[in-house]
Amino acid sequence: MLRITELKLPLEHQPDDLPAAIAARLGVPPAAIAGFTVFKRSYDARKSMMMLTYIVDIEVTGEAALLEKFAGDPHVGPTPDTRYQFVARAPDALAHRPVVIGFGPCGIFAALLLAQMGFRPLVLERGKKVRERTRDTWDLWRKNTLHPESNVQFGEGGAGTFSDGKLYSQIKDPKFLGRKVLTEFVKAGAPEEILYLAKPHIGTFRLVSMVEKMRAEIESLGGEIRFQQRVTDLMIEDGRVRGVTLADGEEIRSDHVVLALGHSARDTFEMLHERGVFMEAKPFSVGFRIEHPQSLIDKARWGKYAGNEILGAADYKLVHHASNGRSVYSFCMCPGGQVVAATSEPGRVVTNGMSQYSRNERNANAGIVVGLTPEDYPGGPLAGIALQRRLESHAYVLGGGTYEAPGQLVGDFLAGRPSSRLGAVVPSYQPGVHLTDLATALPDYAIAAIREAIPAFDRKIRGFAMHDAVLTGVETRTSSPLRITRGEDLQSLNVRGLYPAGEGAGYAGGILSAGVDGIKVAEAVALDMLKG
Ligand code: FAD
Repeated sequence: MLRITELKLPLEHQPDDLPAAIAARLGVPPAAIAGFTVFKRSYDARKSMMMLTYIVDIEVTGEAALLEKFAGDPHVGPTPDTRYQFVARAPDALAHRPVVIGFGPCGIFAALLLAQMGFRPLVLERGKKVRERTRDTWDLWRKNTLHPESNVQFGEGGAGTFSDGKLYSQIKDPKFLGRKVLTEFVKAGAPEEILYLAKPHIGTFRLVSMVEKMRAEIESLGGEIRFQQRVTDLMIEDGRVRGVTLADGEEIRSDHVVLALGHSARDTFEMLHERGVFMEAKPFSVGFRIEHPQSLIDKARWGKYAGNEILGAADYKLVHHASNGRSVYSFCMCPGGQVVAATSEPGRVVTNGMSQYSRNERNANAGIVVGLTPEDYPGGPLAGIALQRRLESHAYVLGGGTYEAPGQLVGDFLAGRPSSRLGAVVPSYQPGVHLTDLATALPDYAIAAIREAIPAFDRKIRGFAMHDAVLTGVETRTSSPLRITRGEDLQSLNVRGLYPAGEGAGYAGGILSAGVDGIKVAEAVALDMLKG
């Protein structure tokens, strides 16, 4: 197969235009093209004319001669082999099974790969199966009732289950592990387009059934997944993990334990710290969610192409370096989605965003967050969690103490006065928004930086600083505030056999990168188990 990159066609081109463009680019008659697949499609909105940019893989007669003809051309070459190759195969008699703690994207892919290689993993997940979990999560959104062990953060599918389901990442991926993640998602029911769109997303409802299918595959390969099984302790002997203890006192022996905890397992981080597992504070960000009419964002981003079906609801990515030295940036932008209550702890309020596959809700939302470093929360690896908790508890009070989110209109926030009435934008956060003054919701430097950033963002997206846009808060679970550091063999720096992984350990920042990290860790576990 032969690959062409940077093949550009106008947004509104006809299906037949693509094979014609391929033939023209290669200088061959159309009949020489035996077939082609689109590997990636992105758009280029920089020029006045909106273009689609393709990477295509082509079966063509005379391939060898064409490769020679285009030898110096960086955009024509042989198609790389992106198929996944397993690194190991379990022996028939396994001395013990690997344990995976957590069944979010990282734990799912660690377990799936271990199962596919024959290692029959045992997965321990503190939350419930995804359907029961969905009901519990809606209890918070509809009835102001939080279930601390079954919510947006905890349960089958992990934190990404109720999400926008964005499936792209900027990680370096020389082994094409991201492709393996996407391929498994398609096998589990995701639309095929996620394999070729530059910014694929699947929305929240599809994720629910996909997660169930992946669970079924792991079980069919001899893996086991136990729900409502919270790990409360680690057995460590002579610097080596020997197993885990569950909340009901049961002890499970294993010499290989994957920690795929996510960033909200604060009690588990505390336990690991007490047990002496090496960890360190790392940067994270705090801020608010902002909501605008999606039509405003579409118009600002797409101009005359707003509403185009191929482009869909527009997203944005913004950064501002404030005069007080802080960086403010948009985080987890959800086009046509809704703001969700994302706390896992009683008496605390946390915001995040999600959408359905169609992305056709009225509002666009995104986190507008400010980067913090451990110097902002001195006191060791757990100090970032203490700061998150302080801000989330204060947001609960500002919101009226009922799990409503404190909110303020952008115009009032910029003018420094409390809001008392909504305007044109109706916020989507459930169970509701309590209008107030957000000035005390974040550290002063963060408030100052966001006040400076919003007008700067308005210069990039006209209307961004509209008076009636709504801020809700607080957005604190942007990433893990600590790292459970690992060595090159992906094991904890000071506990052999313990594999910190995914977002909670500080090695991923989204669904795709958490899945990729799960694969890497599964490979490392498998190779170590084969050493005996
Ligand atoms: P998690 O998904 O957090 O999974 C960790 C699992 O471990 C949880 O299920 C938890 O219950 C379990 N666990 C924790 N402690 C224990 C214990 N002691 N014993 C047993 N089990 C335990 N990312 C994107 O890429 N795109 C998006 O569109 C997107 N939208 C998001 C929207 C929302 C509302 C949220 C909350 C997050 C979103 N994210 C998104 C982020 C993404 O969900 C995370 O980056 C990803 O889920 C991290 O995967 P993980 O497996 O490392 O951790």
